[in-house]
Amino acid sequence: MSTGTAFETVIGLEVHVELKTETKIFCGCKTTFGSPPNTNVCPVCLGHPGTLPVLNRHAVELALKAALALNCRVNQDSKFDRKNYFYPDLPKGYQISQYDKPIGEHGYLEIEVGGESKRIGITRVHLEEDAGKSSHAADGTHTLVDYNRTGVPLIEIVSEPDIRTPEEARLYLEGIKAIMQYCDISDVRMEEGSLRCDANISLRPVGQREFGQKTELKNMNSFRNVERGLHYEVLRQTEILQDGGTVSQETRRFDETTQTTALMRTKEEAHDYRYFPEPDLVRLTIDDAWLVHLRQELPELPAARRRRFISDFGLPAYDAGVLTSDLAIANYFDAVVAAGAEPKSASNWIMGDVLAYLNNRNLSIAQSPVGPRQLAGLIAEIAAETISIKQAKDVLQVMFGTGNDAKTIIREQGMEQISDASALVPIIDEVIANNEKSVSDYLSGKEKALGALVGQTMKATKGKANPGLVNKLIIERLQDRS
Ligand SMILES: [Zn+2]
Repeated sequence: MSTGTAFETVIGLEVHVELKTETKIFCGCKTTFGSPPNTNVCPVCLGHPGTLPVLNRHAVELALKAALALNCRVNQDSKFDRKNYFYPDLPKGYQISQYDKPIGEHGYLEIEVGGESKRIGITRVHLEEDAGKSSHAADGTHTLVDYNRTGVPLIEIVSEPDIRTPEEARLYLEGIKAIMQYCDISDVRMEEGSLRCDANISLRPVGQREFGQKTELKNMNSFRNVERGLHYEVLRQTEILQDGGTVSQETRRFDETTQTTALMRTKEEAHDYRYFPEPDLVRLTIDDAWLVHLRQELPELPAARRRRFISDFGLPAYDAGVLTSDLAIANYFDAVVAAGAEPKSASNWIMGDVLAYLNNRNLSIAQSPVGPRQLAGLIAEIAAETISIKQAKDVLQVMFGTGNDAKTIIREQGMEQISDASALVPIIDEVIANNEKSVSDYLSGKEKALGALVGQTMKATKGKANPGLVNKLIIERLQDRS
């Protein structure tokens, strides 16, 4: 170890997103995940000689939506190319992709990092077909290939090398995921492979313009692993560079058990894919009317919704970020507020007890036994001072278990706070009559004696009296006597 040179991290991400179409990109086979191996296949997607691809219009539409939502310039004159390489899970020997005319270019995604907004450039969004899936037998004697995934439509989203930390990489990915989900472009299930991410990472001395030698990181199956894998690479490359070594160009994989990255293969030279225009597909022309229509169809995107939650509801940026990170949660929150709940209370309950309950049981918010109207009902009971916040937490747990409304549970369990003065006055009078010492102390100026009287009243009502009202009534009764 020497110098103490400071290094800057440069990260670029390539994200593959499987599009949510019924059928594959160039044939009529189903895209259903989890079917028995090699049941969703036909001569076209198996690449049999003499078959011709027919482009799926819905796939193009979803790719266009993605390009628009990522602020890209759309190439209205676009085309497909063959990317040639031989691999067992790519039966044609080439992949139909887009080379020099991708659907979208020059876009950006905004992330919120350290309380500030940062733009990460999007180099390109292009459309392509997915490959099949190989699995290797444990004894190493053979490889099994499932071609169901072959020809499932994908978009590849390539970022500019604008990402500076593993945390920014995670935020960028979360942003991509949210946009794909909001626009109904993909299921974005990382565990099912419908969202996949490769990362390029390099280090350079602070102030240097040229990039350092990069490594590619593959096989990261969760946002957390992307962050961890990149973090490990930063440490590994820093050590090499500080020791005066050079980073070699290679592809590495993140190992979840050791939390480190390991060499997959070295890459001495860039692949020569010998791209050439796909002769079996006509050029893709996207007319103005289609684009205008798709632009109008775009929903309120996560960033806009985050801003609305802050400006219209006065939520802190942190709350707005958590609530809008998932479409279903954002919709749930909007519905709770629409049902009359005060926004900050709604946010607190959702981010606290509701998500904790659902996370513990591995449920999505759409599966919540407590719907938005019911949560709003609970918040209304607190606002009306029928129950305390502490009681409300208990009521909510019963709501999760039974699916009943707050009102019903509060009545059944006799939890109503007594907020009715006419019910409390006789009890207070009795407490006053039985606690002469506290009364005379209070009347002679010992304000603390009031606490004892309030305590006695709470005890007499088994804790159900509204404490604020009890306080006020006792003072009134004693003032009447003085
Ligand atoms: Zn097919």
